[in-house]
Amino acid sequence: MRAMLLRAQREPMAMADLPVPAPGPDEVLVRVHACGVCRTDLHIVDGELTEPKLPLVLGHMIVGTVEQAGERVDGVVAGQRVGVPWLGWTDGVCRYCRSDRENLCDRAEFTGYDRDGGYAEYAVADGRFCLPLPEDYDDLQAAPLLCAGLIGFRALRMTGDAERLGLYGFGSSAHIITQVARFQGRRVFAFTRPGDAETQAFARELGAEWAGGSSDLPPEPMDAAIIFAPAGELVPVALRGLAKGGTVVCAGIHMSDIPAFPYDILWGERSVRSVANLTRQDGMDFLEIAPKVPVRTHVEAFSLDQGNEALDSVRKGSIKGSAVVVIGAE
Ligand SMILES: [Zn+2]
Ligand SMILES: [Zn+2]
Repeated sequence: MRAMLLRAQREPMAMADLPVPAPGPDEVLVRVHACGVCRTDLHIVDGELTEPKLPLVLGHMIVGTVEQAGERVDGVVAGQRVGVPWLGWTDGVCRYCRSDRENLCDRAEFTGYDRDGGYAEYAVADGRFCLPLPEDYDDLQAAPLLCAGLIGFRALRMTGDAERLGLYGFGSSAHIITQVARFQGRRVFAFTRPGDAETQAFARELGAEWAGGSSDLPPEPMDAAIIFAPAGELVPVALRGLAKGGTVVCAGIHMSDIPAFPYDILWGERSVRSVANLTRQDGMDFLEIAPKVPVRTHVEAFSLDQGNEALDSVRKGSIKGSAVVVIGAE
């Protein structure tokens, strides 16, 4: 099969010819149609996440069709279209798994990091971690739901019932979560790179009532902010915009260092927290709500051999919405 292979960190991926992987008894073989591009992929390639399997096929927003299912697979059948997200496997027995926090599993394996992912014609996935996909979405539209959407949704949940919501970094996740937040009756303030008028206009089109640069103060105090950009300096910036009792949620897997800040911007029961990974329940809940909103994803398609260009465009922030690598037709 053709695959984009990362042989070493801080090097571009290269097209390779690999054997089609064989599924184990709990696994399915998936013929990949499309795979969304995530900022996490950049952190893996750039060496900010330090322990990938190597060589590695990246990609953890896989949309494809099950070609073959192992003997112990239950609930997923050949011919079914499925989504394969970041959470690829958990042990099911650690204290986190036993307390409905499998996202924190001590021995979790992640797709496109510990396990080969979807920038390839085929991938294997544990059948228990495949998600059924709503029919309302074609392959390209569905792919960004699988990480940008559902980890963004987990971050949104961590804001509780916050009415005035700030989103810092208006890329793949924020463009989806704006739509969900509006559907839930929240008010959205979008923060982009300073001077990025085009993305600010895009945010307003999707329902943000205000859009500005990340160094601007919000039009009124926020009840919560989600930081999607990997920039630690945004934490104190967002804290300064929060109302009392508000929360800053850091949604990315990697962030630059957070600068020191005075205690009084945290005082008043404000809090800062991170969101890590996802549970299967997050995935099912989000994929149920997405067609009701209905979330419309804006995608820019790349072919498999343009994988490095796709990553670069996410790095530059030049994508309006989500980048998706298209591998094969349905
Ligand atoms: Zn991701
Ligand atoms: Zn566990």
